[in-house]
Amino acid sequence: MRTDRTFTMLKPDSVEKGNVGAILEKITAAGFRIVALKLTQMTVADAEAFYTVHNERPFFRELVEYMTRGAIVVAILEKDNAVEDFRSLIGATNPAEAAEGTIRKLYAASIGENAVHGSDSDENAEIESQFHFSEREIF
Ligand code: ATP
Ligand code: MG
Repeated sequence: MRTDRTFTMLKPDSVEKGNVGAILEKITAAGFRIVALKLTQMTVADAEAFYTVHNERPFFRELVEYMTRGAIVVAILEKDNAVEDFRSLIGATNPAEAAEGTIRKLYAASIGENAVHGSDSDENAEIESQFHFSEREIF
């Protein structure tokens, strides 16, 4: 299992607010190389599958509605220790608890609408990358 790649989504609020360029700049300035990138959207079935681990949680319907309401930007990022370093760069799930300078501190509105996703393990980075990209879209 490789340890130098992670997967991210810039969520609908980031696209709606015009924050895509600024967030990608933060990501590359932190030393991540973009190896796959596209503007796309998820169907309700896609979001239910992507976040299936949360399907018993009280916020699940709200999460699916949020993630399917508009365009998202998905990317695969390469860097040593990618998963952990990217989680540090994005900050805590709740922006009120996120460290200064993190992407969620800068660009997230709330725990529900929190600007970005970052994979939580090398295994999930691989699964989530394959969910959104075909082999020929990855460089
Ligand atoms: P992500 O998986 O999107 O990177 P995360 O790993 O920081 O976020 P998770 O616990 O996996 O957090 O939650 C997935 C997503 O569900 C969160 O990013 C957020 O959009 C939403 N969410 C989590 N907790 C809540 C909550 N208490 N109320 C509303 N939405 C929530
Ligand atoms: Mg998560």
